[in-house]
Amino acid sequence: MDYKKLAQIFKDTLTLRWDPVAVRLMRPGEERPPEVIEPSVPLRHCQSIIVARRGNCLYMPPRSHACPDGSGILGLVDMSPKLKSGHLYLLFKKLPTLEIAQKMIKSRPDFPPGSYTATLLAPLELATFEPDVVIFTLKPEQAMWLCCAQTYHSGDRQNFRTSGYNSTCADLVVQVMKTGQANISFGCYGARASSEIDDAELYFSLPTPQLESTAQSLLKLAEKSIPEERRKIYIHPVMDKVGAQEQREGPVNIFIDADRCTGCGLCVDFCPAAVLEMSETREEKAARVVRPELCSICYTCVGQCPERAIKIS
Ligand code: SF4
Ligand code: SF4
Repeated sequence: MDYKKLAQIFKDTLTLRWDPVAVRLMRPGEERPPEVIEPSVPLRHCQSIIVARRGNCLYMPPRSHACPDGSGILGLVDMSPKLKSGHLYLLFKKLPTLEIAQKMIKSRPDFPPGSYTATLLAPLELATFEPDVVIFTLKPEQAMWLCCAQTYHSGDRQNFRTSGYNSTCADLVVQVMKTGQANISFGCYGARASSEIDDAELYFSLPTPQLESTAQSLLKLAEKSIPEERRKIYIHPVMDKVGAQEQREGPVNIFIDADRCTGCGLCVDFCPAAVLEMSETREEKAARVVRPELCSICYTCVGQCPERAIKIS
């Protein structure tokens, strides 16, 4: 897979602020790949994602992991008894009872201790290893388009399994590796308290086998849907003056500028209420209004017209 090319597609179509981060859990016996550095200070797993999205390629054996929770969940080490039992969640006042803490721990995806020997992280474009997952830091609008791209050829709705606990290790890595399905995370207490993820950002994790098809679907969506949504083409110009229904005065006036109309037919095709029709004479083809009383003032025709020929009042 050409990771550099894929990274560029994701960055261009979604206008990403941060590089997508490739993450691999090293299997026992696997050799450390070239061009990765072991950080000089231990980092939490969530912090290592931030360091990688800033352009660094990291090799993180257990001694480089600062978070005992994360390294346990990722199957690098055995977790401490205090964490495993749930007692620390009570001390931090994150959960109300030990019973609930234990239930949360039991339902949390993890790998058995010793399953993996290190984590590898790199900006996708620089990855010299095959990632298990690729983690995106996104705004909700960008996450929406990634959802659309991911189901572009299936029409499925996504089922995400997430929690406010142990987001970057359990939800973004283990869950995705175990199920082979993308997952979303809003971050967790530890990840937000100890890393610079912005309050308006969230995470999305894609399994590597879905990278190529998702990128290709994003290219399709970037032809029309993404730029139109970003231009807010359906915003009603008088949205902030919308009054009560009784105040609606008179009929809807749909004006089509005949000098601008090229007769492309887009407004007719897109109108959900059959308000418009094409009229065709020997000399010209143009849109015309035939059933204005059915118009719901959705502004779809206004937004779709490439010539900006339609005005509604
Ligand atoms: S979309 Fe615009 S240019 Fe095309 S037919 Fe309708 S009014 Fe004419
Ligand atoms: S505003 Fe909506 S309902 Fe009215 S003509 Fe345009 S597309 Fe049709």
